[in-house]
Amino acid sequence: MTDPCLTPQDNQLLSVAQAKEKILDAIEALTEFETIPLAHCMGRFLAEDICSTINVPSWDNSAMDGYAICFHADGSLADKPYQVIGKVMAGDSSVLALTPGQAARIMTGAPVPKGTSSVVMQEHATLLGENLQVPTRIGLGDNIRRAGEDIEIGKTILRKGDLLTPPRIGLLASVGFSQVTVSRKINISLFSTGNEIKEPGEKLSEGQIYDTNRYVLKSFLSSLPVNIQDLGILKDDQAEIHAALQQASKNSDLIITSGGVSVGDADFVKQTLESLGSLSFWKIAMKPGKPLAFGHIGEALFLGLPGNPVSTTVTFLLFAKPSITKLSGGTEHQNLRLKLRTTSELRKSVGRQEFQRGIMEEGANGEWLVRTTGRQGSHVLSSMAVANCLIDLPADSEGTEINEWVDVIPLNQC
Ligand code: AMP
Ligand code: MG
Repeated sequence: MTDPCLTPQDNQLLSVAQAKEKILDAIEALTEFETIPLAHCMGRFLAEDICSTINVPSWDNSAMDGYAICFHADGSLADKPYQVIGKVMAGDSSVLALTPGQAARIMTGAPVPKGTSSVVMQEHATLLGENLQVPTRIGLGDNIRRAGEDIEIGKTILRKGDLLTPPRIGLLASVGFSQVTVSRKINISLFSTGNEIKEPGEKLSEGQIYDTNRYVLKSFLSSLPVNIQDLGILKDDQAEIHAALQQASKNSDLIITSGGVSVGDADFVKQTLESLGSLSFWKIAMKPGKPLAFGHIGEALFLGLPGNPVSTTVTFLLFAKPSITKLSGGTEHQNLRLKLRTTSELRKSVGRQEFQRGIMEEGANGEWLVRTTGRQGSHVLSSMAVANCLIDLPADSEGTEINEWVDVIPLNQC
């Protein structure tokens, strides 16, 4: 079955992949950077390659609590006891040296004494007075973490454009960086549009609805490296929209709006922007979220997302978030994808790529599975709120039967 909503002009629709490529191709990364303390760099994008100036670990050290031993000169390993001559704790500088047949008590992370052949785990050794009995199976170098085994001096450990995540920040700390140079935060202006849109907390009259989109968008943006200028709700009034967007373009790297980009009588964003900047209005072969506006107003990038809250959410994740990454100098623009079996029959029409809301959960046998949240209208935000993923169904698919494999984009890491 073909999508009944497709009109003849819909042959001109862009695919999701084409739209994303066009957007990313048109975005140049910022070239303004700042050096900030390591403690503040979570979620920022590196502006330089990082090379280690030290070995990690810096010296050979013990991987276990136990005993460092120097093998007997005659090659016997466990037949004769070893004489314990001292103790090394983590943080000690290693002055102790072992000669054949000697051992030292050693703690995890402590530098191994000179002459150490291997470290024997405490649980495998028996101490009688000064005499240490070790097991028969010991290999040379057992339980010793070698200098530079994790990171060698001079090795590039992170690259320009990498997103700084907790493990990467830990890596920077482990090689001694206390600050790091990252792209500056980008300035984003945010508007909702529509005469019917009211601020939550106000009283609704007939025909009015609460502004949902600004709250969805601000919440997504709050974990990204951006400064948000929340400019509220614009009426469907050409002069008001014109003035507001022109003003916002002067101090924004990116302007994001929602609503007003389809073909309704009150869709002034589209009309206004055509006179203000260089903009493309695209119909994208996707559901939810067919209309999207993209372009420039002055120096600022502009992204006009569709008004239905689910469409706003999905287009933010598929187009706005990667745009912010690219603008911030980030190089990882791919949404994480999984393949899971569906426990629901998923219906769709041929023609548009659909992002249906889904719930991933662990099945009885431990395999992760996905099911639909139910009704998929683009105004049904409650289904988005229970979803933990989007099920990505290709444009040419008619849906899937129970137990088939589907592509899934997890949501809770966004
Ligand atoms: P539009 O593209 O402006 O015609 O909007 C499409 C639908 O989304 C309409 O039903 C609008 O009322 C609704 N809508 C637009 N903006 C918002 C918003 N900020 N919050 C909630 N719903 C919205
Ligand atoms: Mg509207």
